[in-house]
Amino acid sequence: MDDGALAFRSGSPVRFPFTPAVEAETAPLWDKVKARVTPLEWRAHAPLIAEINRLKRDKGAVILAHNYMTPEIFHGVGDYVGDSLGLAREAQRSDAKVIVQAGVHFMAETSKVLCPDKRVLIPDPLAGCSLASSITAADVRMIKARYPGVPVVTYVNTTAEVKAETDICCTSANAVQVVEAAAAEWGTDRCILIPDEFLARNVARQTAVKIIAWAGHCEVHERFTAEDIRELRAAYPGAEILAHPECPAEVIEAADFAGSTAAMGEYVSRRRPAQVVMITECSMASNVQADSPETSFIGPCNLCPHMKRISLENIYEALVHDRYEVTIDPVIAERARAAVQRMIDLPPPAQPARYDLVKARHHVDVELI
Ligand code: SF4
Repeated sequence: MDDGALAFRSGSPVRFPFTPAVEAETAPLWDKVKARVTPLEWRAHAPLIAEINRLKRDKGAVILAHNYMTPEIFHGVGDYVGDSLGLAREAQRSDAKVIVQAGVHFMAETSKVLCPDKRVLIPDPLAGCSLASSITAADVRMIKARYPGVPVVTYVNTTAEVKAETDICCTSANAVQVVEAAAAEWGTDRCILIPDEFLARNVARQTAVKIIAWAGHCEVHERFTAEDIRELRAAYPGAEILAHPECPAEVIEAADFAGSTAAMGEYVSRRRPAQVVMITECSMASNVQADSPETSFIGPCNLCPHMKRISLENIYEALVHDRYEVTIDPVIAERARAAVQRMIDLPPPAQPARYDLVKARHHVDVELI
């Protein structure tokens, strides 16, 4: 097989060779990913990376790359990298006319909600999310009718229509703070936190506010068990185990640290542990490794099949063909923006949230809708 990449322009195959010029241009990027990408893979990726970066400049576009993108996307073509809300806020501040969302559909919607005047493209419109699809706007209206006077806090991993029905959004980094602020503002000791049941249960153990939850799950994080952690401890006695709060509480309890995507990355860069296990999506560890080369990262991890629908090839095609544009009814977008903005307007937490369930209350009732 020749070195280089194969992509499609107007349905016809186009080959991009791995030339000395491409090699020189992409050398700094190769340096970042070579712990996780083989030389053979790089010779296939590099020509397309060079072409995508050229197209971005020509079209005034930026690429928002989520932490769960593969390293050649995250480090190769991402202009802004991070979690979904951080990406959308970076995009808001940029002069770019076009945003390409290297992430799943609800993330592209959040970018469109926060950047209504920019053209937002998603390389694969079928890149969904089990959490986002677990609840609809009609479900939220039903919940509000059942619990009048109780604030509705919605995780950002939801569609724009769901956000539009809710009072305030939250992320895994600020969920405890948002729940407490909402309960105080509404003058109640209860709060609805949807749609992630495990995030809601983990938050409930950090606060005196009574949590009402929805039975949505992230299909990546729900599969981890406490038994997985016990086996990892036995196999790697010195490793520090980090887990995402979308995991079940038994996993969080067994881990050394639990926190949002940002908090996990910050933990590794601050403490520089020799060995780490990240109980989350596979690409997260690959991408953190580039900035922490002295730490060795051990599996297991689970792949998100939705995130993995995004590739260099369909990012290239999105830029060439201006597809697939994300549109949102302006009325829905305005209401969703209000819910996101309400969260943004809260004072920032002193540090990224930590779910310290060892010190938390041990018996907390969560009402499941
Ligand atoms: S990792 Fe989980 S929450 Fe994130 S997009 Fe995949 S299914 Fe959704």
